[in-house]
Amino acid sequence: MDTRLRHYSRRHGECLLWIGSRIHSGYGMVWVPEESKQRLAHRVAYETWVGPIPDGMDIDHTCKVRNCIEPTHLRPLSPKENRGANAGEAHWSWKHGKYAS
Ligand SMILES: [Zn+2]
Repeated sequence: MDTRLRHYSRRHGECLLWIGSRIHSGYGMVWVPEESKQRLAHRVAYETWVGPIPDGMDIDHTCKVRNCIEPTHLRPLSPKENRGANAGEAHWSWKHGKYAS
């Protein structure tokens, strides 16, 4: 999984940005062969590089960039806390070369 995550990401300043497929909301998606399904890239990155995500927890981006998978920017947050924290979150658009919401 480590190789796959690195292959589909690029360093951009402090962030490690996902360049693979994305869903409409700006989150990166990665194919997980072991589970035969697509999963959110930042969650897979957290599990791969940090550890298991506690039950029912969301993964918050402290940098506010949804398609960032830099493990030091990811932290588990309860869905309730996450809704408040994510106001104003954006994602990096490679196409436009800027952050977009
Ligand atoms: Zn980041």
